[in-house]
Amino acid sequence: MSFARVGIVGLGLIGGSLAKLIREVFPETHIVGVSRNPFVRDTAVAEGTLSAASSDISALAEMDLVIVATPIDVIVDTVRQLQEILAPSALITDVASVKRDIVAALSASAKPSQKEGFSKGLRPLTPVSEAGVQGLASSTLFSGEASGVQGAKPLDHKNIFSEAEPREKALFIGGHPMAGKEVAGYAASEAAMFKGATYVLMPSEDPRRDTFRHWLLALGFRVVDMSPADHDQAVGLASHGPYLMACLTADVLLKSPYGESGKQLISSGFRDTTRVACSPTEWGTAVCLDNADAVLSFLKSVSADITTLSDLIASKDATALTSYFEAIAVQRRGLFPQ
Ligand code: NAP
Repeated sequence: MSFARVGIVGLGLIGGSLAKLIREVFPETHIVGVSRNPFVRDTAVAEGTLSAASSDISALAEMDLVIVATPIDVIVDTVRQLQEILAPSALITDVASVKRDIVAALSASAKPSQKEGFSKGLRPLTPVSEAGVQGLASSTLFSGEASGVQGAKPLDHKNIFSEAEPREKALFIGGHPMAGKEVAGYAASEAAMFKGATYVLMPSEDPRRDTFRHWLLALGFRVVDMSPADHDQAVGLASHGPYLMACLTADVLLKSPYGESGKQLISSGFRDTTRVACSPTEWGTAVCLDNADAVLSFLKSVSADITTLSDLIASKDATALTSYFEAIAVQRRGLFPQ
């Protein structure tokens, strides 16, 4: 089961990697990317990853599926803009690392009242200067002009509904591919990053969820069904907490009076343990703020464990220490069987 026309908003690490994976597994798919960065648009079309690219979100009006792969704080607005232009039969999903607030915000607006169900057409968005690529990180999404779609026919406006026409909105279902790297941007993207990766999918009774689920399985993902609240708790333990531990571990060495000597001795253990401390700091800040409950509960649990471990070490009880480490090592080995 496939989607013939797939749009991707935000061609960074995740958006770019998904585009490359889709191109690899479903070569016939018409993939349109929306990026504020002209160099990325040119590159992605030239290398054949994208069928077409634009700086304008309205280029996605005829897509069957749109994946929003922007930073967390712009996902809700982007989905709402897409719901203004996509056909009601379309499906929108996101890849954000935190789900509860996004899904709640979009569920609240899912069933339009008669009043708000009238499309206002395309909302003009802050234009991005083609030259000002350096300023992109903090700028708003995309020009509202139906500007140059590279490699594609001009936008057909038949899906842009008139003021007077009440309409259902395209369906949103939240998702989260559980793979990544500590570097951002399209240049770092690769299909292989998702080999054997887990994809968390939020619930919906709509049959389009099954279609999307099968499509993800065909792409090679291991799909895990989870509610937004469970996802946020689980990802606090599996991803956000470990990011904080990596930061703390690196920080202890860097600010120690013995840090300079420590730096001379660091090797693969330190590198593996602290790798994710190099993740984009905007991402780190966003997950701490948007998943504060789970992250704080992780830190509380770590504080308690530090006390337990400190007491064990102070007691000089070698047997108890070994049992403590052994219990963890056995279970940790089971997480990644050889
Ligand atoms: P990224 O490499 O920085 O890509 C994000 C892309 O979004 C940028 O390349 C940019 O694309 C676009 N963008 C940036 N600021 C924007 C803004 N203000 N408005 C609109 N678009 C903007 O980051 P990423 O790692 O791919 O993360 C994207 C999403 O994936 C996030 O929601 C994150 O939580 C989620 N995620 C990340 C990982 C990970 O390990 N990195 C894993 C799973 C999920 P253009 O320049 O093309 O416009």
